[in-house]
Amino acid sequence: MFLEDVQILNFRNIREMRLEFAPGLNVIYGPNAQGKTNLIEAIYMLVTGRSFRARSERELVPWLVEDYEATVIRATVTREGVRDRFLMSFNLTQKYVSVNGEPLRRLGELLGRINAVLFTPAELNLIRGIPQGRRRFMDLCLSQVSHRYLHELQRFDRVLRQRNVLLKQHRERRDLANELAPYNLQLAESGAFIMLTRANALAALSELANRFFARVSARDEFLQLKYLPSFEIGEEPVALAALEAGLLEALAKSFREDLLRGATSVGPHRDDFVFLLNERDAKLFGSQGQQRACVLAMKFAEVEYIHNQVGELPILFLDDLMSELDEERRRALLANLPSGTQCFLTTTDLKLVNDALKPERVFRVQEGRAYPQ
Ligand code: ATP
Ligand code: MG
Repeated sequence: MFLEDVQILNFRNIREMRLEFAPGLNVIYGPNAQGKTNLIEAIYMLVTGRSFRARSERELVPWLVEDYEATVIRATVTREGVRDRFLMSFNLTQKYVSVNGEPLRRLGELLGRINAVLFTPAELNLIRGIPQGRRRFMDLCLSQVSHRYLHELQRFDRVLRQRNVLLKQHRERRDLANELAPYNLQLAESGAFIMLTRANALAALSELANRFFARVSARDEFLQLKYLPSFEIGEEPVALAALEAGLLEALAKSFREDLLRGATSVGPHRDDFVFLLNERDAKLFGSQGQQRACVLAMKFAEVEYIHNQVGELPILFLDDLMSELDEERRRALLANLPSGTQCFLTTTDLKLVNDALKPERVFRVQEGRAYPQ
């Protein structure tokens, strides 16, 4: 994938930016608080439809623009020789997205059109944070490469909400167990597909991540990503039919508990995975630098994974990659950037990049403006 150009109007401290990018390494540098992450954030809005760090559009609207009408983000992306034009515009009351002039009915329809992998310092939460963040990572990665996955995920969420409403509001009904049966069937069907896709993807990501990790890690360390489903699924590899039967059984078994809690306690919405370093949980035993390297390894693995799945390299966004890494790791890392991908790298210190790599294009960002160098 090749992001040729963007135009950004009224996004946080960016009043107006028009930038043309190179197919290889694009470096964005400047002091703190100038708009480097804002630029990445704006572009990444076109990947998922939402900001990776704001809870609502309200935060993205510029504070000080008096004649503000709307925020606009445009981009041209080439994929296998086909050029697509993306447009997103929003203000405090409306949001509009189109591709090649055709409006999209839902934000979800954006997913998979621009394949991208994002690393920011906040991604350390993938290790340290709650399981929801890890499920979100899986869902974003897999929805990008499989329409079926996105479809099953949406279906699962819908049925889950309906089942939970029954559990909460109709718990005194005598035949509730029977009423839940068709919901359980649907949950088991979609849920098994989601779980199997996650299990397979994690196995692949684990191997790719470890390979990368071995190259950047100074010591003899072994990285594994281990899937932790909400109920016992037996030895891998598991078959879809067996998973479906297993989930159905687990749902039936948890009926009493679900009734007490008014919620469904088993299924992919309760999945998790862990990072293991030499078989120990990196969340508990990894140093800050090790945790960072684990997440990076997983992100670089994601690049390969997406490449293998869709046959095209995703765009890689690396925000503030260099901070907190010692010099040796920094060098090893830069030397091992996935090759052939279009990469956007932000830094406060251009010299750190120039010492190790030859960027194709460099932009200096200052007070919300970008200057090609
Ligand atoms: P660092 O090197 O510290 O990561 P950065 O260049 O990535 O810095 P950004 O996060 O892109 O910095 O930009 C932050 C700036 O944007 C802050 O100075 C902040 O005041 C400003 N900002 C954030 N939201 C808005 C907004 N809604 N309107 C105007 N300015 C905003
Ligand atoms: Mg930043």
